[in-house]
Amino acid sequence: MNRVKLMLAVGYLAAAFQAAAWGLTPEGEPWTPDAQDQRRALPNVSAPPERREPNLQLPPRKDEGIVRRVDLPKGEKAVALTFDLCELDIATTGCDMEVLNFLRERRIPATLFMGGKWMRTHARRVRQIMREPLFEIGNHAWSHGNCALLSREGLKAQVMWTQAQYELLREDVLQNAREAGEPEPDIPPVPRLFRLPYGRSSERALNDLAAMGLRIIQWDVAAEAGDTSNLKRARRAGRRVASMVRPGSILLFHANRVPKGTALLLREVVDTLQKTGFRFVSAGELLGMGQPRTVRDGYFTSPGDNRALDKKFGADGTGRRTPFTGR
Ligand SMILES: [Zn+2]
Repeated sequence: MNRVKLMLAVGYLAAAFQAAAWGLTPEGEPWTPDAQDQRRALPNVSAPPERREPNLQLPPRKDEGIVRRVDLPKGEKAVALTFDLCELDIATTGCDMEVLNFLRERRIPATLFMGGKWMRTHARRVRQIMREPLFEIGNHAWSHGNCALLSREGLKAQVMWTQAQYELLREDVLQNAREAGEPEPDIPPVPRLFRLPYGRSSERALNDLAAMGLRIIQWDVAAEAGDTSNLKRARRAGRRVASMVRPGSILLFHANRVPKGTALLLREVVDTLQKTGFRFVSAGELLGMGQPRTVRDGYFTSPGDNRALDKKFGADGTGRRTPFTGR
């Protein structure tokens, strides 16, 4: 090896170590899964975030209800893939690296609705996601509080703690960039989209969420239904999902390793939709492309089909026995 090559090799290694220290990989490289991406890999922490109120409060919005899909101009075949990262108060969930790496490998934009507590559990991963322009981040409540059951104070804390946790991680990313002498990446100051845990809502919650400046995005296609971790099942389910998709659809998936076989199903859905001329945009972009179709009461596939979930996850969806109040 001549001297120049040696210098280049040393430089490359130094850069690689530096990148590893920040949890970065060169563009296009798959992100390396680690032990923290597993479910229940970490001790569960249910303490509030370091900061409970975000520095930036969004201006109030008009209450426009819950967006299920968007009517697009004729001939426009765009759809939004969305992935929820739900985490209850009482346990940690994972991060599906097969899903994230697939989206990055295929350069597919997606919207990730993150629980605030999940963001803290997976802080390193979230900082990495923030630097990836393909991914849009939305708010999915602090610890999956059910908006139909939470008190007003409880709902406010579920939303604001999440906005604040996002800000803390964003500040880390910007500071790391400054310290490395790099330009600051362009990361939205706080999420503007909100996803209702369990798809549950109430008139009061819709009003309060709008007052907090958030736009509520649901889905018209709930993609996961049953175990799709073998190829045969994933193919069958993929065809079923693709047949329900229309231009302007919003698809619901999870990336927290709770449903079984999301990555395999996602691949089938994406391949089928791409073959039929669909393209993928973030939920935020889709909203700007046409006329949102809204409802006043959230559901999975037919009105009322999620009400039974009110009784299944503790006092108010967070898994706690006592209501979450934010105090
Ligand atoms: Zn969820």
